[in-house]
Order: sequence, then structure tokens, then C-alpha cells
Amino acid sequence: MANQEPTDPSHALFDLFVGAKTCRDVQQHFSALCVQLQVDPKDYRVFYSKLKERLNYWKAKALWVKIDKRASHKDYQQRKACAKNKCLVLGAGPCGLRAAVELALLGAQVLVVEKRASFSRNNVLHLWPYTIYDLRGLGAKKLYGHIAQPYLDHISIRQLQLILLKVALVLGVEVLTAVEFQGLEEPSGNKGWTAKLHPNPHPTLAFEFDVFISAGGGSFLPDGFKHKELRGKLAIGITANFTNRHTAAEGQVEEISGVARIYNQKFFHDLLTQTGIDLENIVYYKDDTHYFVMTAKKKSLLKKGVIKQDYSDAEQLLARENVDHDALWRYAYEAANFSTNRQLPDLEFATNHAGRPDVAMFDFTCMHRAEHASLVRERRGKKLLMGLVGDSLVEPFWPLGTGIARGFFAAFDTAWMVRSWGLGVPYLKVLAERESVYQLLSQTTPENTNKNYTSYSIDPTTRYRHVNLSAIQVHQVQHLYDVNDKSLPTSKKNKAAHLRQGSAGGVEDLLRWCQKNTAGYAGVEVKDFTRSWTSGLALCALIHHFRPQLIDMSSLNESDAVHNHQRAMDLLEQELSISPVMAASDMASSALIDKLSMVLYLTQVHDGFTKNKK
Ligand code: FAD
Repeated sequence: MANQEPTDPSHALFDLFVGAKTCRDVQQHFSALCVQLQVDPKDYRVFYSKLKERLNYWKAKALWVKIDKRASHKDYQQRKACAKNKCLVLGAGPCGLRAAVELALLGAQVLVVEKRASFSRNNVLHLWPYTIYDLRGLGAKKLYGHIAQPYLDHISIRQLQLILLKVALVLGVEVLTAVEFQGLEEPSGNKGWTAKLHPNPHPTLAFEFDVFISAGGGSFLPDGFKHKELRGKLAIGITANFTNRHTAAEGQVEEISGVARIYNQKFFHDLLTQTGIDLENIVYYKDDTHYFVMTAKKKSLLKKGVIKQDYSDAEQLLARENVDHDALWRYAYEAANFSTNRQLPDLEFATNHAGRPDVAMFDFTCMHRAEHASLVRERRGKKLLMGLVGDSLVEPFWPLGTGIARGFFAAFDTAWMVRSWGLGVPYLKVLAERESVYQLLSQTTPENTNKNYTSYSIDPTTRYRHVNLSAIQVHQVQHLYDVNDKSLPTSKKNKAAHLRQGSAGGVEDLLRWCQKNTAGYAGVEVKDFTRSWTSGLALCALIHHFRPQLIDMSSLNESDAVHNHQRAMDLLEQELSISPVMAASDMASSALIDKLSMVLYLTQVHDGFTKNKK
């Protein structure tokens, strides 16, 4: 029965969808399947359940079992945790799609925009075991048979994208390809946050969203985020892809999962003497293509005429005009041929998106890392949660094979952040938690993460072994809340001016108010928003000035700063409902007390005493 051609047209369309090997075919067969079954993916809330109900096909059922199992996890709250949220994901690379799947499982409406028209990246990625486990949990075995192999530890980028695209579509994610994101459009009139897209797929009806996830890869960074550049000693990587005809002879050639010079000096010595090619390491994997990646020494590239002229600046050295592409192809070809003992018959380059031999050379020692992972922007009273995932967040050092593993972790962490947002957790807390988790990302290895993959979920505590979700506190992420007073009504504008460090007028008024109302108290001299407050006496004096019955100043000891702060903060919370923005111990330390947080806190104290006079 398993080998029979299906007679039901929807079954045949499902087979075509599952077997599709290009992005375009996946989308076309998916649309045809939806038409056939009369289900509308725009109806994202019920789309998956309707699809399941109408496609009564054993092959599809095997996929539903997997997806249902994942979707039943308590974190998603029956796909209702983010039922009110709309998310725009920039980039249909592996990490953008992985994030989109999680957001859809949380119940959000998700739109992915991808500027490329096709998935054309042949390069093969080494995967950590948990990533394979994760993909199988999404039904990848049903979507790409190859992944069923027990010892598989690598996959081409395009196959990974195809698997995730299929899962995303089934869950009701809308994916627009050949559409470039060109920036955010601020809310205006009744309209919320939208995006400038080119070409604009919805000229009349813009997609409004409250969550924006950027997964645009290493060189893309949305406005509001900053990258730190990490640069090491020059290291030149070369990737080359050759056509895999999947013959028996090709099947017999062994893969090379990483030969480094220090482990096999003879191999590299022979390569150099026989071909003039000098490498630090080489990897060979098979997937849709025969994929080779190697680190080449500059001297041999110059000698073989691949690089025309020597420059100390890496960008100039590897600039297009300084590379002889024919010589590069010969270099890559010879290295591939030698390292496989010339056993791969009829080596022929696979082509890239531009129809040229798929060979690339790049400096991989310059990497970027975002300074923070999240941001909340508010305009006209409309908040937008922004997050980075994948290479856009942390660009990996490729020889370590960390790109997808850490990229998926970041996708889960980001989904966890969106979940908190959807559940109404205060936005500063959402940001503080996200940044606390982000601190751990660059240190994760297969050894220091939880080995029990079955327990993995978007909850960071299931994956990171030692995670403190409050390592970063609310007062430390104030700067990640970006509210632009230009768009606020005047009353709010005044308040915002008080709260921001740079807005001198409001801050100076606040300082004068504090000075006036603490004048004459022993041990208190307010000159600023930091040192003057560390003993806690100034805060207690302010309370005493307005409510003398609440506090006995003579009982306070200047050297017991933490106690004084705690007493004052408790009173302010009880009497004026003002939540603390720092721990008492931080306020008591001149190194930890934060000016912006103090301004924010004292603004509320000011408002509390002046507007609610008893
Ligand atoms: P990308 O894959 O870069 O995807 C970003 C997507 O965003 C792209 O499709 C792009 O077209 C789209 N985009 C960008 N700007 C816009 C815009 N304005 N509008 C719309 N769309 C946009 N990782 C591993 O885990 N294992 C390995 O063995 C490994 N080997 C590697 C070898 C090499 C030589 C290199 C260079 C990298 C390697 N990596 C490896 C890293 C891995 O490829 C990346 O970590 C991974 O592809 C990142 O996925 P991503 O989704 O974050 O970004």
C-alpha cells in the first residue's frame, strides 16, 4: 500500500508538497493543496486544525502526530499564549524560520519576509545532536528522508530551510519570498507598526505587528541595535560545492568530518608538495552536493595566483578585483580531488544562485555580536517588541559549527520572550529576562547544556544548565526602552522628558525639588542622583518631609545604608504604590546606583507626593 500512487488528489498534492525540493515548488504545491482542501492559511488561528481534519491521509497523519506532540507542550498554552500578537520575522534563513515555527506554536499571527526568491545555499552545516533531535521532533523525517539516518550530523542550508518552511506553512505562517524589508514604519493615525517592504505585497492592507524579529544574517542589523566587531588574525576560508549524482561510486567515497593540520601533518605536507596548496584544515560532507570547506594559507593563494596582490587589510586582500576566479576554482578543485584520493568521478562544480560555479572565498575572522538582544520601541502609545536571532545576534566562528545550535537556542529564547510579552509581563521585565539569558548564549557548548533533549522547550531553564533569569535587573535595561517624545501628546511628553537622562530641563527641576525638600536634614546633601543618595538618608528625608508620621529620622543610622533604603522603598511601595527599580544593596553602593533609574524612581516619588497630597 505504501508504494501505491494516491488516488485522492489532495493526497497526491500532499506528496508533492512533502517531496518538493525548491522553495517555489513548496509554496506552489502548498497553495494547490489548500485550494483543494478549501482551507485558507490566512485563517491562521484554525488553519492547522482544519488542514488536519480535511486531509485524512496516513502520510499526513504521521506528520500531525509529531507536530501535535510539540504543540501540546504546556509552554504554548494550547496555542493561546500569544493569540493576540502579530509578529513580523525578517529573513527565512534557518533561524528566522525556526523562530517563526515557535511563534506560530504560541498562537501568534506570523509573517516572514525573505528577500531571496529561492533557497540556493548548498553549503553543508555540521549540527549538534540536539539540533537533529529538535528537527526530528518537528517531523523532519517525514519531510526529508535523509535525516532519518541514525548517525547524520550535517545538512545543507537549503534542505534545512525547506524542512522548516514546510513546517511553518503547515502551522499557518505566511512566508513571502522575493520581498525585501527596508525598514520599520512608525504608527500614524489609527495604524500601528508596519514595515516598508519592496515590492509591497499588500499595497492596500499593510500588516500591522507588535513584535519584530530580525533574522537577517550576520551583516544585517535593524535600527536601534549595535554590533561589536570581533576580529582575529586573518584566516581565509574557501567553500566549494560539486554536483552529487548519487552514484554508487560517489557513495563509497568517505566524508572528512574535519582534518586539521595538527592531527594529520603528512596529509597536508603531501598536499603541499604535490599541488602547491597549503591548508590549515579541510572538511568534506555529502548532501545535495559534495561540499568542501577549507582554511587556506595566504602565501599559497598568492603563489597559485588566486589572490593577485598582497595587502595587509583583509577587505582589500579579498576584494573581488583582487581575486582571480579561474585560479580560485582550480585551487578548490585540486584540494577537493586530492583530499578524496581522486575517487569522486567527474567532479563538476554545482552552481550558485547566479548560475556560476559555487565556490566562495572569505575572511572568517571578522565576526559580529549584538550588544543586546531585545528592545521595546514606543511611538504614539504603541509598543513594539524587537528581538534578534541567529547570525544577526551572534555571528558564529564557523569551524566550531555553532551557528545553527546557538541560532536555534536564540530562536527559542526569543520565543520565550514573546510569550512573556503576550502574557502581559511588564515590558522592562521581559527585556531584563531576555538580556539575562542572552549573556549565556556565546558560552554554550554541547557539554555545558542540558543533555536531556526530551525536556527541551522554549523555556530557557530546560536547556541552559545554570541560568539566572534575573541576572540582569529591570533598572539595567531602561535604555532598551525607546520612547520618542515627538509623537507623544504634551502631557506624556513632559513625563518622558523627566525620565530621560539627557533631557536637562526636567531632570534639573527634579534635582531642585529634591534639594528643597531635603534641606536641613542631618547627613543629607543632595547634589546629584547617585552619590548623594547612597546612605538612604536622603530618600528617608523626602518621605519624612511629606509624611513625618511615617518615619522616625532619629532612629536611622547613616552607616546602615541598605536598611535605610529598604525602609524607604517599603514605605514608598505601601503608601504610594511605587515599585522599587533597584535592589536596596545597589542603591547603597556608589558603584551600582544607576542615575537613570534614580531619575525614574524620584520622578514617581515627586508625582506621588505632589499629586496625591493627603
Ligand atoms: P542566514 O542563514 O544568513 O539567513 C538570513 C536570511 O535573511 C537570508 O535568507 C537573507 O536573504 C535574508 N535577509 C537579509 N536581509 C533581508 C532583508 N532586508 N529583507 C528580507 N530578507 C533579508 N553553522 C553551523 O551550525 N554549522 C556549520 O558547520 C557551519 N559552517 C559554516 C561554514 C561557513 C563557511 C559559513 C560561512 C557559515 C557556517 N555556519 C555553520 C554558520 C551558519 O551558516 C549560520 O549560522 C546560519 O546560516 C545562520 O542562519 P540565520 O537564519 O541566522 O541567517
